[in-house]
Amino acid sequence: MKTRFKNAETGNVTSMITNFSLVFLFIIIFLTMGVAKADEKSQQLVDRVITAYGGDKLTNLKSLRVVDKTQSFSYGQSSMADDIDNELNQTSVTLDLHNQHIDYRRVRGNKSHFTIEHQLFDGNKGLSIDHAMRTVEQNEGITYFNADRSQHLNLDTALVLLLHKQREQAEYAGTAYYLGELHDKLSFQAKGYPQMTLLINQRSGYIGKMMQAHWLEGQFFNYHFSDMKQSKGIYYASRTYVSGDNKPLELTVARKVEFNLDTTHSFTPPTDYAVKGQSIDFSKLEATKLADNIYLAGSNWGFSVFIDTGEYFAAAGGYFQLGKRFEAVKKLANVDKPLKYLVVSHHHSDHLSGMKEAAALGASFITVKAHIDAIREAAEVELPDNRFVIVDEKGSFAEGKLQVLDFASSHSNHNLLTYFTDAKLLFSADLFASHQPTGAPRGSKALINVKAKLADAGFEVSHFAAAHSGRVLTAADFNQSIKSFTPQLCPKDWEICHN
Ligand SMILES: [Zn+2]
Repeated sequence: MKTRFKNAETGNVTSMITNFSLVFLFIIIFLTMGVAKADEKSQQLVDRVITAYGGDKLTNLKSLRVVDKTQSFSYGQSSMADDIDNELNQTSVTLDLHNQHIDYRRVRGNKSHFTIEHQLFDGNKGLSIDHAMRTVEQNEGITYFNADRSQHLNLDTALVLLLHKQREQAEYAGTAYYLGELHDKLSFQAKGYPQMTLLINQRSGYIGKMMQAHWLEGQFFNYHFSDMKQSKGIYYASRTYVSGDNKPLELTVARKVEFNLDTTHSFTPPTDYAVKGQSIDFSKLEATKLADNIYLAGSNWGFSVFIDTGEYFAAAGGYFQLGKRFEAVKKLANVDKPLKYLVVSHHHSDHLSGMKEAAALGASFITVKAHIDAIREAAEVELPDNRFVIVDEKGSFAEGKLQVLDFASSHSNHNLLTYFTDAKLLFSADLFASHQPTGAPRGSKALINVKAKLADAGFEVSHFAAAHSGRVLTAADFNQSIKSFTPQLCPKDWEICHN
């Protein structure tokens, strides 16, 4: 070894350079061959999958409809903090593959308690249709990817069609075992979609699993496909199971797929519905004074109401950016006082996204006993018991200026309603809100119960603020919503309403 080292050291410099160049050249050639080979491999795989799912019959498809009955699990949005709700969903997704149209319908819940959702995408713009209010609203946020809440990703055949369209994007990513069988991995990113990796069974050519990047770094949403069926020579999995963050999320319990169906009336909104006006633009964080010592602050879907009690501030509404809202209020009021209390409306993850900030501000949490663990978890810091002020049915703070009522609904077993006594203002979450500039929002059974609860407590509410909107509604709006409330109806011509 020593001799060789010496030889190299004393060797001719020119020949060394030539040797390096040659090695470099070989590396380049080798790498180029590797890329070319991988590219060829990915294209062969795309062809293999297309053939397995029906070949020309698949690529010539004009339209498809997938009708799914699914069971899903509501992490962070259950009615009780110590349990996970199970939800039944029935969805119908119709895709016009040539024109990139989507018709999405969903019935969520059971026969005695359900909500419906209807969205259309016409290749350019999206519409949300409210069949209870008989309104159509143009919705800028709707795209081909999300018009159906990305439900079409649950159908392996739809993934193959996406891959077919964007085949030049496909990249071979090696092999992996899935359920004991060897699979080829193929990654691709369709326009407007997140990165997806398909695990393609080497034996059958079917997609066993699709992995989609999760917003938690290093995590994936995993779509598992099984129980293959075929119709008109086109293949699809009749069962899809979706997991994410190491938890089961959704399971298909029944599926019907139709190919090349008549879609003449699928993508047209009802003509006799009113066009819903543009929503208020809440994109900028703003603070406003509502009454003496009462301030509203927020943006988008997160708002809080603050009260200056003289000695300190107290607030209701625990959405993300609580700190920024508090800063805006202090600036507007031109005072600097601590935030002593934060009323936590309920335990749902979105409403706990500001707990970290509340903990850092030194606030005590006004809550119910059942929500302490969820708040501690969301705050991500050790919170001693004395940082929690427990409300049992009702509570009164700051010499009665701020009162709290616990209200039970199907949404959450405990909802704390906050009443700012002097301003006769009620703050609620997920109960009564509107982003429309005028008019009363759709009522609910819960509102009728709230009305009775408020009367019982002797609260004469004149204004209603909400966690999800910067519009303050009036007592007249509240009464109108209750008066005009009609139970949800499933449109008669919807297939999923009859299951
Ligand atoms: Zn909620």
